[in-house]
Amino acid sequence: MKGRKLLMIPGPIEFDPAVIEAMGEATTSHVAPDFIDAFGQALERMRHVWLSPDGQPFAIAGSGTLAMDIAAANLVEPGDRALVVNTGYFSDRMADVLERYGAQVDHLRAPLGDRPSTGEVAAALGQADYKVMAITHVDTSTAVLADVEKWARLSREHGTLTIVDGVCSVAGEELRQKDWAVDVALTASQKAVGVPPGLALLVAGPEAMAAFHRRRHPVANYYADWTNWLPIMEAYEARRPAYFGTPAVNLIAALNVSLGQILGEGMDARFERHSRMSRAIKAAVSALGLGQVPVRDEVAAHTLTAPRYPAGVDSSLLGHVNAAGAILAGGLHPHIKTEYFRIGHMGVTNFGDVLATIGALEQGLMAVDYDFEPGAGLAAAQALLVD
Ligand code: PMP
Repeated sequence: MKGRKLLMIPGPIEFDPAVIEAMGEATTSHVAPDFIDAFGQALERMRHVWLSPDGQPFAIAGSGTLAMDIAAANLVEPGDRALVVNTGYFSDRMADVLERYGAQVDHLRAPLGDRPSTGEVAAALGQADYKVMAITHVDTSTAVLADVEKWARLSREHGTLTIVDGVCSVAGEELRQKDWAVDVALTASQKAVGVPPGLALLVAGPEAMAAFHRRRHPVANYYADWTNWLPIMEAYEARRPAYFGTPAVNLIAALNVSLGQILGEGMDARFERHSRMSRAIKAAVSALGLGQVPVRDEVAAHTLTAPRYPAGVDSSLLGHVNAAGAILAGGLHPHIKTEYFRIGHMGVTNFGDVLATIGALEQGLMAVDYDFEPGAGLAAAQALLVD
């Protein structure tokens, strides 16, 4: 669209026009039959997107941090032990949230840009009687990808509940909640789910709901309490009116449209498309001579890329890339904030957007007099985008 730049940050992202149109519909009553139907359908669709056929979906007004708060508030009681597999800034946040509800948190850390090995996770799980283990599927500050499949299965063997912060992964990165034994997978609307910011989205599996029902203490957060929200979610799915807190009516309508589109693409095709866009962008970045924060391909996320600035180049690069048409994000991890930048590639982002972004990056690199072969990044990306 002329006059509009491509929004290629790790959330919020570009949104589909049909989703934006749904947001612009006249706001209706939260108990109007059409709205009840849309909300009920959105909840049903969440189960399919999360690949959690027996999970309990929750869609609540708020951002991703609220989704983290909801998971911790409902599963943690004072004195519970929690293990945080820490891969960056958002793992630190999860630890803070768990501590706020009285958990005694241990961290399992890897060097920046890496993730712990499965053996290290297994050993850590054996060291205490952990009620929960928290994993950041994609830490948006490092672009490190956690091995959720292996770690969550181990956690289940120990009788520990796994909470996955999937804010930068759900509906983009491969995540199979039930098959992988993930107890809570949470996200926010503004990333791969493809809806403007404002919804905290969670699916809780049967073990998580059972642990919630076994609680000895009331949930220490009134708004987050599943005691208040569970009857509401159940009512909307049963197409009955209900009220606890006014739902974000327009966002829920948009969510239903976006989830319909996601399921229309199909989850396997969607995971593969994200993986391909990621491989193309990472190949382009390497062809341009830039390193990345993740230390190996295997630990790198598919929803964003975190290139390091080459020698002699600083964050002024991003202004030039912006002038060339693509909005990228700066660094976030406090230890390396000025050393790298981030490219988000999720949701409706398509192969043409990938090429346009690499083109804008090349123009930015030219503007800062970086020495490289123009077109090298585009050629590397293109080679991976065609069959
Ligand atoms: N977790 C991760 C992995 C994130 O990327 C983000 C947001 N970038 C959050 C949690 C917090 O989400 P929000 O900003 O919507 O509160």
